Amino acid sequence: MTGSETRSVPPAGRIAVLLPYPLAGAYDYAVVEGPAPAPGTFVLAPLGPRRVIGVVWGSGDGAVADDRLKPLHGALEVPPMPAVQRRFIDWVAHYTMSPPGAVLKMALSGSGLPESPRPVLVYRRSDRPWPAGLKVTPARRRVLAVFDHVPALTLADLSREAGCGQAVVRGLAEAGVLDGTPVAQTALAPVPDWTRPGPTLSPDQAAAAATLRRMLDADGFSVTLLDGVTGSGKTEVYLEAVATCLARGRQVLVLLPEIALGAQWLDRFARRFGVAPHTWHSDMTAARRHETWHAVAQGLSRIVVGARSALFLPFPDLGLIVVDEEHDAGFKQDDGVIYHARDMAVVRAHLAGIPVVLASATPSLETVTNVEASRYGRIVLPHRHGGAVLPDIALVDLRTEPPGREQWLGPRLRSALAEALAAGEQAMLFLNRRGYAPLTLCRACGHQLRCPQCAAWLVEHRLRRRRLCHHCGHVVPQTDRCPACGETGVLHACGPGVERIAEEAAALFPHARALLLTSDTLHGPASVAEAVRRITQQEVDLVIGTQVVAKGHHFPMLTLVGVVDADLGLSGGDLRAAERTYQLLHQVAGRAGRAERPGRVLLQSYQPDHPVMVALADGDRDHFLALESGERQAMGWPPFGRLVALIVSGTDEPLVDEVSTTLGRVAPRSDRVDVLGPAPAPLALLRGRHRRRLLLRAERGIAVQTVVARWLEAVTVPSKVRVQIDVDPYSFL
Ligand code: ADP
Ligand code: ZN
Repeated sequence: MTGSETRSVPPAGRIAVLLPYPLAGAYDYAVVEGPAPAPGTFVLAPLGPRRVIGVVWGSGDGAVADDRLKPLHGALEVPPMPAVQRRFIDWVAHYTMSPPGAVLKMALSGSGLPESPRPVLVYRRSDRPWPAGLKVTPARRRVLAVFDHVPALTLADLSREAGCGQAVVRGLAEAGVLDGTPVAQTALAPVPDWTRPGPTLSPDQAAAAATLRRMLDADGFSVTLLDGVTGSGKTEVYLEAVATCLARGRQVLVLLPEIALGAQWLDRFARRFGVAPHTWHSDMTAARRHETWHAVAQGLSRIVVGARSALFLPFPDLGLIVVDEEHDAGFKQDDGVIYHARDMAVVRAHLAGIPVVLASATPSLETVTNVEASRYGRIVLPHRHGGAVLPDIALVDLRTEPPGREQWLGPRLRSALAEALAAGEQAMLFLNRRGYAPLTLCRACGHQLRCPQCAAWLVEHRLRRRRLCHHCGHVVPQTDRCPACGETGVLHACGPGVERIAEEAAALFPHARALLLTSDTLHGPASVAEAVRRITQQEVDLVIGTQVVAKGHHFPMLTLVGVVDADLGLSGGDLRAAERTYQLLHQVAGRAGRAERPGRVLLQSYQPDHPVMVALADGDRDHFLALESGERQAMGWPPFGRLVALIVSGTDEPLVDEVSTTLGRVAPRSDRVDVLGPAPAPLALLRGRHRRRLLLRAERGIAVQTVVARWLEAVTVPSKVRVQIDVDPYSFL
């Protein structure tokens, strides 16, 4: 610190400021003039040679002497961060054992601060009479018609809405028919019209909506599981609660798994409320994020529909949170601050004293257990809307009805496909594996093509003519020469990915119009929307896809779903493997027969006696959950016990081993806590880093954070080794 920056300040002029960096905690700064900014104020503060943004977190703790404090640079013109959000950040930091600054960083992500959004020019219809002789061309008429629905739009939005060039809009402005005025971008926040009538609800749905409204009336924290079969109208029901909350003038947050943030959901919202909601996900431009963040902070944005990170937006007056598809693993963030958005949504709601609704056809065992313990309420919608029946699910035993050599569609699935296509109906083939083949083997020398940086095979992506590591993205061009023995024409693709299934289907049904949907063929919401449109308008006969096709979509003409390899998710050491397989396959099956025509699902499996398969075929979810629950309870696994994973990683393998062995040796052990490992992680090498895992298992009532903190204090970790803490792990790779 230089002498010129050092000031003597009275103790009253000291405040703590949290900076968006993974530091130990808030830093003290001196307030040089004027009153101390209130907690929550966004300020600029010196950090080393830089000026960084921070948030006033409280009064300073006095650890730094007054005369060594650095002065604050000043406050920003942004609404202060609400107290509830500051408490939330502290809570998440404590729970996930992350530095509070790292959580703050997530909360500021996309804000663009310290910049504030620049004003933009919007056009309105002017009140003045039109100039005499104005030529009203069809394009001009379309522009004017746009204002029947919206008061003002930017140049780009207006020309897009009207389907004309920007010159048409400018021409109308020059003619005095439109007025251009600069406004803060946030003023563009669309206001949903909650007075518009929703659909007429069935008695079940109406009762469910009434229960949710009661939760809102009760004005306090509550968690309600909206437990309804696929197509039962869960979305329609929670949109009623959304309308109620909007009518009260409070903000709403709807969390969806990223993948479900599709055009269909947004269209539905727009049909219900007349405008598109604000969205928040990874696939947004910086400008859009910036604008949305500030619209939320100013309370102008009434509703945000977003992926998990939307939970950290600075809502000043949140009145309701909905977590749709609450069981979805996509709610767990697995790097940086490792958190589960569903669980943290419940915490956020608790801190704010508001209701949270968890919706799913296949609720997680965590949530079901909370319902059974009466911590959460439950509303059940047992029937599909409009008399659509649940699809008939049949198991195909691949041991007795195997597909041909180098084929993956067995005889029964083949004839079902032929029938559906002949009847002019749509069919879907599901395999949750991207690419053409998961393994390439040299027939001459037996070499397996592996990623040099990960303990993983390279997956062949034939469409893009390359082989790819699904863990680190390492790419090698597709060749037919073995990199080990140099022979050509000997590389053999083992096993199927969706691309290979598409190839097999094309050979079987050359006239069917097939559409391959995976994250490799879909790039962003627009291409998802286009795919959905093509399917809905029956430009497609056969959909072949990975889990991107499993969720949320409503395709009325789809009557057959074939699951190519139902066992795929069951192997591996994941304690939730059975539960997840059940959920995913149930979701996929739920795509079939959603309208008048009944649906049928074929599950190809080598383990048709597995409880997951039996439960799917019998439609007996609750029996499956009871079995699963019994097993977890016996083992002390979640939700009956608590887990914390430590992942030790580094490029220096002996050093990684040394640290993990030490951690294992000093691990806390008692009759209520045990530690498994260290063991090489299933992905023992990832991006060139060697990885070892330890797993702490504790009884439910144990404050695992305290136990882990003490454990780590006992070990000195060299800077070349990283120890990642994952509280409530969902991934065991
Ligand atoms: P879920 O979310 O439970 O899968 P949805 O809310 O998506 O179910 O409803 C399934 C389909 O039925 C959607 O197309 C939806 O618009 C329609 N639907 C549900 N309830 C009604 C209703 N009361 N009136 C009209 N259509 C409805
Ligand atoms: Zn790799």
